[in-house]
Amino acid sequence: MLLCRGSALSRTVARLGRRSHPGDGLLHRTLSFSSSRCRCLSSGEVRAESGSAPALYRDTVLLPRSEFPMKLTGQKLLEREVQTQQDCGFADLYSWQRERKAKKEFCLHDGPPYANGDPHVGHALNKILKDIRNRFEMLRGRQIHFLPGWDCHGLPIELKALGELGTSGLSPLQIRQKAREFAQGAIARQKAAFQRWGLMADWDQCYYTYDGAYEAAELKVFQEMHSKGLIYQDYKPVFWSPSSRTALAEAELEYNPEHVSRAIYATFPLSTLPPGMAPDGLEGGVSVLVWTTQPWTIPANQAVCYMPNAQYSVVNRADNSQLLLVATERTASVAALLGTELETVGTFTGSQLGGGICTHPTIPDKLVPLLPANHVTMAKGTGLVHTAPAHGMEDYSVASHFKLSVECIVDEDGKFTQLAGPELQNLPVMKEGTDRVISMLEDAGALVKEEQCVHSYPYDWRTKQPVVIRPSKQWFINTASLKDKAKEALQKVRVLPESARGSLLSMLDRRTYWCISRQRSWGVPIPVFYHRETGEALINKHIVSHIATLFKEKGSDCWWQLPIETLLPDNVLKKSDAGPVTDYVRGEDVLDIWFDSGASWAAVLEESDTRADAYVEGKDQIGGWFQSSLLTSVAVRNKAPYKSLMVHGFAVSEKGEKMSKSLGNVVDPDVVINGGKEPSTPAYGADVLRWWVAESNIFSEVQIGPSALNSARDSIGKLRNTLKFLLGNLQGFDPRTQAVDPKQMHYIDQYMLHQLREYSIKVTDAYSEYDAGRAIRVLQAFINRELSSFYFSIIKDRLYCDPEDSLGRRSCQTVLEEILDGVTRSISPILPHLAEEVYLHAPGHDEGETLFRSGWIKSSSVWRRPGLEEAVEGACAIRDSFLSSIPGKNAAQYDLTIAIEPGLLFELMESLQEEASSTSSQLAELMTVARVTLTCALPRDLPPDALLSHGTFLINLEGGVIREDSAYSIAAVPTAAARCPRCRRYTAESADCLCPRCQPIVSQAH
Ligand SMILES: [Zn+2]
Repeated sequence: MLLCRGSALSRTVARLGRRSHPGDGLLHRTLSFSSSRCRCLSSGEVRAESGSAPALYRDTVLLPRSEFPMKLTGQKLLEREVQTQQDCGFADLYSWQRERKAKKEFCLHDGPPYANGDPHVGHALNKILKDIRNRFEMLRGRQIHFLPGWDCHGLPIELKALGELGTSGLSPLQIRQKAREFAQGAIARQKAAFQRWGLMADWDQCYYTYDGAYEAAELKVFQEMHSKGLIYQDYKPVFWSPSSRTALAEAELEYNPEHVSRAIYATFPLSTLPPGMAPDGLEGGVSVLVWTTQPWTIPANQAVCYMPNAQYSVVNRADNSQLLLVATERTASVAALLGTELETVGTFTGSQLGGGICTHPTIPDKLVPLLPANHVTMAKGTGLVHTAPAHGMEDYSVASHFKLSVECIVDEDGKFTQLAGPELQNLPVMKEGTDRVISMLEDAGALVKEEQCVHSYPYDWRTKQPVVIRPSKQWFINTASLKDKAKEALQKVRVLPESARGSLLSMLDRRTYWCISRQRSWGVPIPVFYHRETGEALINKHIVSHIATLFKEKGSDCWWQLPIETLLPDNVLKKSDAGPVTDYVRGEDVLDIWFDSGASWAAVLEESDTRADAYVEGKDQIGGWFQSSLLTSVAVRNKAPYKSLMVHGFAVSEKGEKMSKSLGNVVDPDVVINGGKEPSTPAYGADVLRWWVAESNIFSEVQIGPSALNSARDSIGKLRNTLKFLLGNLQGFDPRTQAVDPKQMHYIDQYMLHQLREYSIKVTDAYSEYDAGRAIRVLQAFINRELSSFYFSIIKDRLYCDPEDSLGRRSCQTVLEEILDGVTRSISPILPHLAEEVYLHAPGHDEGETLFRSGWIKSSSVWRRPGLEEAVEGACAIRDSFLSSIPGKNAAQYDLTIAIEPGLLFELMESLQEEASSTSSQLAELMTVARVTLTCALPRDLPPDALLSHGTFLINLEGGVIREDSAYSIAAVPTAAARCPRCRRYTAESADCLCPRCQPIVSQAH
């Protein structure tokens, strides 16, 4: 016999699990009943046939049965989800897994959403992504550390809480009370939504940035950074929002690309020519031409800057003979702008301009030096830059270098102060102030040209009003000195997608200091006292520790409630070498909320040296929380607070537009789940919302709308059907007592276990990469290809018509149960409600057990059978050839002769059918035909109606060591057998006769 010869081929086949003793396994199932006499039907029985098995046999056919509902919609769906949450202990899951023994922890540190509004679809995207990861890691046996948090302080909450009232007449404590209540309301609404979405957390253990303990931990970070000299007080230009009367950090700005400024070209007459410029021909007087988009800063001008390496020209205006100094490179565009010819009188290098002095155009006795600076650009303007150190960041660095005055001429409301002169005092700088400065320049004959300039300009993110740059005394973090360490720490962090790393690095470069003080009440007070007379700040580790202890006990309201003697007691004063407490007043600034949330690692991660496994946030946090957390952690502990960063995109409308109330395209997650008033907004339930998140391409923009949601619902519906089929066929099966050992199984069943194992490896990989979308695609391919179109279509006869307790049927059920379990577990991180609902119906476990308390997919390495793939795929190739030869016909009505020359393919097919000809072999099952005859060559006496087809199959075993291209021929002949009235296979002797397989089953049943 071929299979028994001692060749490499037979050893390979032996590895497929073939037993050496024919007849002791399923493959060799003997049909002992085949010899019994044909049981014939009465004419009445034949008439009773109604499309399926005749009524007489219907109760002997094991059709799928399950109480698992095919479809759930509307109120029933919602009730089912809420009931599942209760029955399956969603609320206790987090604490359950905290208490169990686990080797490793997985810490996903929750970035706190802002407590200022209703839950929105952006929250859903972020929180569900986190939950998918947490549930996946938890199922794999890791102990999850996940504390949901809220960012509770800050101006936006303060503004919303106060509404139209404004702060007028309210004490800081009154403002704080209102803001706290407002935040609490928002937190309660968001928390309820997060629970409904099925997030796994202990909702009684969240963190809030307004908690005393949190504030104390934050102050500890502040103190350590202060002790290291990283926090300092300075008088510097900052972004200042007149509309909210406070300093703003870069992260609190929104750039408006449509901002229109009144840009001007103005002249500064040179009163002293630079020694490097020969006076010949310049006797008439030269004026330096400058350009600015912010004319209101002209009165604060202290210098005009040039680029030392650039070329400059003195040019003569053809229309009025005025001599102007401009960069050579800008001459042509200035000429075009002025609409006149410019004749070059002389050319100089920038460095020859040193020593030149101008008179200020609107302040006659003020002299303004020409100074070299590297920030001068030739892209716009004249190559000579008007410099107002108090009102520009780069201007300020020039001032620091040359010790120029940094005199502020704008007050907190954005109006000119007395220092700007009586003509300007009290005018708002961005409006009437600008008008007046321009007219003053005109009167002085210094205005050369005015134009409208549309450019990107910073606005206050909350009030949507433009900001100004003005200096004020603020507290800063020296981020420049942290930058290199932060970059180094970031190298050890895994960033997903990797392309986000560049943005993180460039954000670190862009910010040289971080202003952390805010002139508001709703925040953590900066624990500093000021000397009543000198204004000098009193702050040290004794003071900050003492205040932190007070905050921990009483919360930060005590900063305003307690007498200063308690905040600054004698022992602390003594350690600080300070005078009596009466010399001091408490500071009135609070910390930037980015510092609040940036210190969350210190308050939330359990051990002081812990790094979270992951931070998962939207891309807006690249310049926000990702960065503030990195900077504070690097400052205090010299390492990043996270091991990996996952950066996702934003939710946008279906058309790819940003969601906004004015466009009417806002998707409310509550309406998605519970349904809205319109018929177009049905109740989808939480699992659809979760599927939508999982399926989206989260690394780019994530679109949501009716078609995305309907498609998610339909996908879940299809999955539900598959699960129902599996459950239906497992009725009455208990895997604990009836499971069949894989070695005893049909090859096709073993092959499916192999496929299930491959599936579980792929799906686990996808989740590990935060790619739930890929997990879904792998799932859908497995269901469509491996299950629905292949396995399910082949096994129905065995499941429905073989004896209930037969090895063949139990073998199949064992595999179906493993598939059900594997598929259900694989989708459970995405669809926890559906997964637990299936688990309630699934066999093999006791009441009260839940899926999430019983781990991840349990695939076994025993299932790995690469050789089987070749056997089954070889058979499938033959089947495909055969099917294409009978288009539109029913395969079950054919007898098949498969001819393969002796070789590997033949041996593989022989392992599926040992007999030369069979109606019940595994090969016949795979072909879904009446009978298969396996031979080395097609017989010569084929009937004339035989359909012939041919093909080849390349066998590839042992990783390519064994390769063999084998040809096969197929002859399909309409079967002479009749249809069995019970199983409807064409294997009966006559139409009124049961097939040999069905006879004994019916005999025993009746
Ligand atoms: Zn039958």
